[in-house]
Amino acid sequence: MSSSHVPNEPIACVECGLRLPIRQPQVDEQHRTFRCAFCGAVYAGIPVETPNAEDRFNIREINLDSAY
Ligand SMILES: [Zn+2]
Repeated sequence: MSSSHVPNEPIACVECGLRLPIRQPQVDEQHRTFRCAFCGAVYAGIPVETPNAEDRFNIREINLDSAY
């Protein structure tokens, strides 16, 4: 039995409770940066599929590579 468990459940925004279709990244995982579309809280995460297609509109990806 492997003890490594990959969490694959979407998280909810701690500020406003909005469902965010991302999960927390593993330590060695390349994550992306997202902002809650409602309150603007910033999260590092990995996109996941959710039963509700509309959930993907709850986040905005922050592209740190693009120049402003
Ligand atoms: Zn929020």
